Amino acid sequence: MSNMQPEATEVLVVGAGQAGVAMSEHLTKMNVPHIVLERNRVAERWRSERWDSLVANGPAWHDRFPGMDFNDVDPDEFATKDQVAEYFEDYAAAFNAPIRCGVEVQQVNKKEGESGFRVETSEGIIDAAFVVAATGAFQKPIIPALVPQSARLHQLHSSSYRNPQQLPSGAVLVVGAGSSGVQIADELQRFGRQVYLAVGPHDRPPRSYRGRDFVWWLGVLNKWEAAAPPIGAEHVTIAVSGARGGHTIDFRELAESGIKLVGRASSYDGGTMTFNDDLARNIADGDANYLSLLDEADAYILRNGIDLPEEPEARVLGADPQCVTDPILELDLAEAGVSTVLWATGFGFDYSWLKVDAFDESGRPIHQRGVSAEAGVYFLGLPWQSRRGSSFIWGVWHDAKYLADQIAIQRSYSAFKNYALV
Ligand SMILES: Cc1cc2nc3c(=O)[nH]c(=O)nc-3n(C[C@H](O)[C@H](O)[C@H](O)COP(=O)(O)OP(=O)(O)OC[C@H]3O[C@@H](n4cnc5c(N)ncnc54)[C@H](O)[C@@H]3O)c2cc1C
Repeated sequence: MSNMQPEATEVLVVGAGQAGVAMSEHLTKMNVPHIVLERNRVAERWRSERWDSLVANGPAWHDRFPGMDFNDVDPDEFATKDQVAEYFEDYAAAFNAPIRCGVEVQQVNKKEGESGFRVETSEGIIDAAFVVAATGAFQKPIIPALVPQSARLHQLHSSSYRNPQQLPSGAVLVVGAGSSGVQIADELQRFGRQVYLAVGPHDRPPRSYRGRDFVWWLGVLNKWEAAAPPIGAEHVTIAVSGARGGHTIDFRELAESGIKLVGRASSYDGGTMTFNDDLARNIADGDANYLSLLDEADAYILRNGIDLPEEPEARVLGADPQCVTDPILELDLAEAGVSTVLWATGFGFDYSWLKVDAFDESGRPIHQRGVSAEAGVYFLGLPWQSRRGSSFIWGVWHDAKYLADQIAIQRSYSAFKNYALV
C-alpha cells in the first residue's frame, strides 16, 4: 500500500460556472487556499448546453459581475452565449483562479470521526476542510412523465435544442412558456415551422418601460432582493427575451405570428395530448403581472420626481386571440402534423455525488442562505438561495461573497485557542 498522503486543501469548490468563478474570486481576496474542480470547461453550460442563437436575458451592463464589464458588448446589448462563456473565462484568468478543468468530482464523503471531507475525483483524492457545491440550479433537465418513449414522436429537452434544422420536419409542440420555451417557439415559427406552445403560469415583465429595462425596475423596486417568492407564485416562471435586440414577451404577438397557444399539457393518451382549460387565466395573470410592474414603476417615478418619458401605449393590450378565447383542449398530434415535442420544462438538482447529511427526503438541499445542515458544506447557485437574484449572474456573486465570509468565520473558530491554558 502506498503511504502517499492525498492532496489537501482548505476549500474545494465543485463546478466552474459563474458560481464557482465568483466563489474563487472571494476566497482569493480573503487569502483562503482553495481549488475549483470543473469536469469540463469554465462556463461549460453556456458553451455546449444552450441553443445556438441564445443571448443573455439581461443587458450587458446588468448581467455581469460587479468588477468587470464585457469588453466586446455594448452595455445596452445582450451578450451571446459564447460571449458570456468568454466573459467568465477572462474573469477567472484575471485573478488567476485555481481552476482545474476536466476533473470530475465523483464523490464527497464526510471523514468519520475527524473534521473535513474526502473528495474522490477522476484524478485522485483530495482532502478538504470545506466543500462548496457550485454546480448550480440547472443540473438535470426535467421532462414530465407524460409521453412514453415508445410514442412515435421526437422528444427533446430545451437543453438539447440547438437550432430548427436539427428537428425532423413537421410541427412542434413546445411545452413550457418560460424564457426558454417562448424564445425557442418564436425561433421555430419564424423558421417556418407550425408551433403549438403550452403556456402555464408566468410573469412577463415589459422588456423596458419609460426608458428603463425591466432589470433596472426590478432593481430599484427591490424585487431582485425579495427573499422568497410571493405565496402561490413559487412555480411561476419568468418569460423574457434578449433576442433580436430584446423585446417584451407578448403572447398576443406570438399568436399573431401563427403560434397556436394551448394551456398546460396535462395528459397524453394514444397520440392525443390533453391541455388544461387554463390558458385564458394564465394569459390574464401574466397581463396582470405586467401591468402591476407598470403601476409600480409609475408610482416610483412620481414619488422620486424622476424625469422619464411617459409611455401610455405600453398599457394598450390587444384583444385575446382566438386560440385563447376558444382554446384547443385536445390535440391529435399525428393529425396536427406534430413530429416533435420539445420540453422547456426546467431543470432539477443532482447532488448524487455529495454523500453528506444536508438533504431532505426528496433530495433537496437543507440550508440557510447556502450554509448547509452539514457543517463545512455550502451550496451556491440555488434558486432563491438568499433572494430572487440568486440564480442569476450578478446575484450569485453576492451569495458567493456571503459564503466566503461564512467560511472565514468558521476558520477562525477552528483556530480557537484557549488562551488561559497557553
Ligand atoms: C437557457 C438559460 C438561459 C439563461 N440565461 C441567463 C441570463 O441571461 N442571465 C442570467 O443572469 N442567468 C441566466 N440563466 C441562469 C444562470 O445564470 C445560468 O444557468 C448559469 O449557467 C448558472 O451558473 P452556475 O455556475 O450556478 O451553474 P452552471 O453554469 O450549471 O455551472 C456548474 C458547473 O459545474 C460543473 N459540474 C457539475 N457537476 C460536477 C462535478 N461532479 N464535478 C465537477 N464539475 C461539475 C458543470 O460542468 C458546470 O460547468 C440562464 C439559464 C438557462 C437554463
